[in-house]
Amino acid sequence: MAGLVVRSTRSRGSFRLTLKFTLCKPTLLFGNKMRLDHTARKFGTLSEPPRFHVLPNQNRPKQEAQPARVYNDKIQVFSDVSNRYVDIPNVWLRDHCHCAKCFHEVTKQRIIETFDEIPEDVRIVEGTLTEQADTISMQWQDGHSSTFDKQWLVACGLRNRPRSSERLAVTRTRLWDGKSIKANPPSVQYDDIINSDTGVLEWLLKIKEYGFSYVDKCPPTPEASEALLKRIAFIRNTHYGGFYDFTADLASGDTAYTQLGIGAHTDNTYFSDPAGLQMFHILSHTNGSGGASQLVDGFSAAAELYEQDRDAYNILATTTVYSHASGGDDMSIQPYRAFPVLLHDSQDGSLVQVRWNTTDRATIDTPMESMSQWYSAARQWANILRKQEYWEQLQPGRPLVFDNWRVLHGRSAFTGNRRVCGGYINRDDWISRFRILNKGRSAVLDEVLRA
Ligand SMILES: [Zn+2]
Repeated sequence: MAGLVVRSTRSRGSFRLTLKFTLCKPTLLFGNKMRLDHTARKFGTLSEPPRFHVLPNQNRPKQEAQPARVYNDKIQVFSDVSNRYVDIPNVWLRDHCHCAKCFHEVTKQRIIETFDEIPEDVRIVEGTLTEQADTISMQWQDGHSSTFDKQWLVACGLRNRPRSSERLAVTRTRLWDGKSIKANPPSVQYDDIINSDTGVLEWLLKIKEYGFSYVDKCPPTPEASEALLKRIAFIRNTHYGGFYDFTADLASGDTAYTQLGIGAHTDNTYFSDPAGLQMFHILSHTNGSGGASQLVDGFSAAAELYEQDRDAYNILATTTVYSHASGGDDMSIQPYRAFPVLLHDSQDGSLVQVRWNTTDRATIDTPMESMSQWYSAARQWANILRKQEYWEQLQPGRPLVFDNWRVLHGRSAFTGNRRVCGGYINRDDWISRFRILNKGRSAVLDEVLRA
């Protein structure tokens, strides 16, 4: 038997996973014989409740930065994990030389073949390790020279603070409900976005802050709408196609293409990686009425549930749910695993994604004896969503773009012919565009290529 046991323990406020691996027969590593201990991930087995919360904690105390130093032929940095100076292993230093021979100057990809070219016991030539005002430099046994920025080395020692704020591109987040947003929703001018990156940044900052933004004075054509979306990144293809332009019919085998009303939901729960952004642009609506659009701030709804009933919140954060898209004869798209309705960052515990689509919901991955608790938690959640709804009649010339990981959308039933265009953008692609515009490429890469 092979056993992989995952134990979650907490010490000094940090969350640790201990992996214990016992192997008898290597062949058992393959196929479905290798299993995680699934009871360990249910927090019922933990000694204290999980530290799930809605927004990232931006008020952690900043570590007092201690300078990097040369000590006993090693470079040392202050580690906030063990609260003392620690040696930087030579093999890591050599692997992180950022000179043009080791890292590609433009793509910042590693050129050096770490495991072929750097011996495990790689040595610094005696007497060559020297400290300058802002840098430390050395010569390696193979003749290569490296220079490291001291501030960068200092940052490499500080590992207690989760790097989540960088990965998640945390900026100001404003929670809203229908009442607070209706009078003054966020909006950006079409021309500003088309003509300048500053306009794109202004747009993305609003989407980061509110989870959505309108664009005003867009020509009511599919071409202008597509060009607008492509200012952020390329459009994601799905089984529906790429950029879409449709009128109500059932050609795509999904209720979204009918005249029925649709309750607040997020899209793509049937993908492992749901789309990050979605655009809707109503190009025309003739011979009928209805079809108002609704948005709900999922983070705001989560915050209300968090205050109202912490147990219900934790059930939606830990019980996983499967989903599927099986509208075509030859497909049944399913994610590689079930995900909770409220998905949290594994490092800092903050909410990163809402996955709520009761139309596409499949198995609720919990035993029958705890099923009613999930329904009760989900009902509380659904009631909060309804309470916080924001309704608006979308207009030609005013596309809407929203963060599908945060904001839920829906619409009321309608009559007549409605022509809508739009498309998806991947989460990683829009966050990449946002971070580069917001912080600059070199600041982003400094973070990527450190410890
Ligand atoms: Zn180098």
